[in-house]
Amino acid sequence: MAWLPSRLVSRAVGTALTLCVLVQPSIAADLGDHAAFLDVTERLRAKDHPQFVERLSQIRQDAANLTNTEKWHLRYLEAWEAMFEGGYAKSEEQLNEVIKRSGDPVLATKASALLLSNLAFNRRYEEAFALANRLATTLPSVTDPLARSMLLTNLSQMMNFAGQTDLALKYADMIESDSPTGEAACQAVWLKAATLYSGSRLKSSSPELTRAVDTCVAARETVITNSALLLMGSLFLKESQPLKAMSLLDRIDPSIRINHYFPHVELAHLERAQAYAQLGNDVEAKKAALSVVAMNKPDDISDWLKDAYEVLYRAEKRQGNALAALLSYEHFVAQDKGYLNDISVRSLAYEVTQQHEMVENLATESLSKQNRILRLQQALDAGAVATSRLYIALLTVVLASIGLLLFRVKRSQLRFKRMSSLDGLTGILNHQHFMSEAERVLRIQEKKLGSACLISIDLDHFKQVNDTHGHAMGDVVLKRTVAILKQFLRPIDLFGRLGGEEFAILLVGCSSSQAVATADRLRVAIEATPVEDDGRIVSLSASVGVASTDRCGYELQRLCREADAALYRAKRAGRNRVIADSENDTATAA
Ligand code: GH3
Ligand code: MG
Ligand code: MG
Repeated sequence: MAWLPSRLVSRAVGTALTLCVLVQPSIAADLGDHAAFLDVTERLRAKDHPQFVERLSQIRQDAANLTNTEKWHLRYLEAWEAMFEGGYAKSEEQLNEVIKRSGDPVLATKASALLLSNLAFNRRYEEAFALANRLATTLPSVTDPLARSMLLTNLSQMMNFAGQTDLALKYADMIESDSPTGEAACQAVWLKAATLYSGSRLKSSSPELTRAVDTCVAARETVITNSALLLMGSLFLKESQPLKAMSLLDRIDPSIRINHYFPHVELAHLERAQAYAQLGNDVEAKKAALSVVAMNKPDDISDWLKDAYEVLYRAEKRQGNALAALLSYEHFVAQDKGYLNDISVRSLAYEVTQQHEMVENLATESLSKQNRILRLQQALDAGAVATSRLYIALLTVVLASIGLLLFRVKRSQLRFKRMSSLDGLTGILNHQHFMSEAERVLRIQEKKLGSACLISIDLDHFKQVNDTHGHAMGDVVLKRTVAILKQFLRPIDLFGRLGGEEFAILLVGCSSSQAVATADRLRVAIEATPVEDDGRIVSLSASVGVASTDRCGYELQRLCREADAALYRAKRAGRNRVIADSENDTATAA
């Protein structure tokens, strides 16, 4: 994560952590001295990756002559390499072995730091944050410079990942104050730039970014330098400067090829696709975007994949390939929803872990206080003085307050659980919860051969509301829209926000024609109710897609696909209309 901005975080997670900083420059080592050879190899892992790989294969040939300690060191470096290449499962297995069986605390710390990013990469957020909490408490006892800087780097990235910007910056500062110059400084300033990017506080010309590039170039940390330069490329694209992005990509292309750091290869393809798209070269844009798609598994959810599908969808649309555009759009929508959902899952996992930790600490404290009261009472039985009674009374009060606190924390945990199923802005079901509830309802309908319809609603030109009146007004519009729509729904219907300005409704026990009629009432109500706030008036309309179990069956994925496709057709047909899965290009209402 630290190598890449948090928008790009999912891919960058693992490796960032690992490439931490080596304090001494590399020296040639004789293969005869295996321990020294391994040390030098480790220092080269991010500085000169091809040489690192070469040296790993050299020492493997001499594996029979390694001591036990050296064998574990080699195992750890292999885990590092597996993760660098994207082999997360293999890496996790090796890291756990090193942590549990090597008996070497420094190596175990480095492996744990690496495991942190591995877990986060695989979206096992609660495990990752729980491990981060445990590792944070060991920080004071970690004195080995490399292990310490790896740990701090990983913690900083995890906090950035959870949206805890200040904590992320604090850990980065700790790295810099441990080693204010050289390679550790490169890691630290890079982490700060990446954190600022996540908080949308970085521009391509920001001094923090220039400083990260300069420091890492000076430290010859090529992989982290490339991370910083790719971040700059992505900022150029955000600022609509495709030519600058393209020339930057051309400049770093050889280094990316040599190092072959998996996320960098993918991100470079994506930025190239976006740059070509901005330059109007759809053929090359599609080619580069397809390379991104090819680097992922079909069910991966990632921000980059979303961006790649967006490039594809827009390019196909411009070239008039309606079917290909539709297919890419469907992928784009699925990715967009998945990614938004992932962000909320991440910060929720962080909150839940913090709460869990607090409850455990409080419970331990409460137990030890109870024990002390018991001991004092025994002392009193043996004829203790009146002051002890006072002390017992005081302790009892403290115990009662801890009890109260525990109760409050438990209550807020329940609130978190409830929040985790509701959308924070509008209070209706969030994406994840809507899907799981819809799945449940559909199973019931399937058993009793009932019907249900999925309505997919997307506000038209909503971006203009934000652009014209500001994001706060956009939020007001979203809340009012939900209030308007709610009036038409029955308690048994499911209503969720799938992301942005897109909503879904599952009408239970409802035929296709009834659903279309309801959908049209919703559309008319939105059109007829301009939102007023602070003297400003915003007129709205929505496009609506309807899919029914009668036509599509009871599989939620299929229903979503059909409703989204109908919605897309409604947009194409001029917006402000309802289209059902049964129709081709005719609008039922407008
Ligand atoms: P279309 O008619 O094609 O749907 O155009 P659109 O502008 O509605 O669609 P587009 O997907 O281009 O823009 C959606 C915008 O919604 C972009 C994003 O900034 C904004 N958005 C997403 N989530 C929120 C939110 O929670 N609050 C606010 N205010 N805006 C949001
Ligand atoms: Mg919209
Ligand atoms: Mg939308």
